[in-house]
Amino acid sequence: MNLVLLGPPGTGKGTIAKFIEVRFGTDHISTGDLLRQEVAEKTQAGKHIEPMMNSGQLVEDGLVLRILRKKLGSLKGKSFVLDGFPRNINQGKLLEKLLSDMCLELDLVLEIDSPQDIIVKRLSARRQCVKCMRIYGLDVPSTVPGICDDCGSPTVLRKDDEPQVVRERLRLYGSITKPLSEFYQKKGLIRRIDGNRSLQEIFGEVEKVLSVYA
Ligand code: ADP
Ligand code: ZN
Repeated sequence: MNLVLLGPPGTGKGTIAKFIEVRFGTDHISTGDLLRQEVAEKTQAGKHIEPMMNSGQLVEDGLVLRILRKKLGSLKGKSFVLDGFPRNINQGKLLEKLLSDMCLELDLVLEIDSPQDIIVKRLSARRQCVKCMRIYGLDVPSTVPGICDDCGSPTVLRKDDEPQVVRERLRLYGSITKPLSEFYQKKGLIRRIDGNRSLQEIFGEVEKVLSVYA
């Protein structure tokens, strides 16, 4: 079962992808995390990516695709949940080509949606571990504020979760990413889920939807 999670930033895509990973044994692939890893490791690509990410701009399709291809190649047959890719129609087409080159198929696109004011509130409360990149938020706070439960490192507000950057990300989402909803609808792959509920309720619905495929 190979999935794409679609939806604006701050709708819990990462948390939902983690839930699916644990429940169904799929690999959670977050292009945002893969890109942040390049930045943290100060690779050549990372130096180029950092200012773009910090201002909420999208990284070039070709560069993200290269990083994603490497990651998919390392899965060795394990199924996956893509979180953060595709982010525009061109990436949707690139993904189709990449999967068919690798003899893989996309089974389902889960679209999660929430009202904008809730998204801004969630993102400004969100913290991420500087080391293992685990995300904490209103629904899932760390036990000790500012410290990661898993590795004891500090958790911080991401630069791109600052309010003016969040507004830019939401604007980009509406104009560039949202059209993928129709793109996948036409292919009969989309399933929409209301993200403005408790995580428990969302997990319950996701589980029901995916049980058909497992
Ligand atoms: P969110 O989904 O909450 O916006 P992500 O961690 O997925 O956060 O992405 C953070 C940033 O990483 C984006 O604002 C963008 O700069 C970059 N990024 C992630 N995925 C892609 C992608 N598929 N194409 C281009 N840029 C991307
Ligand atoms: Zn950590």
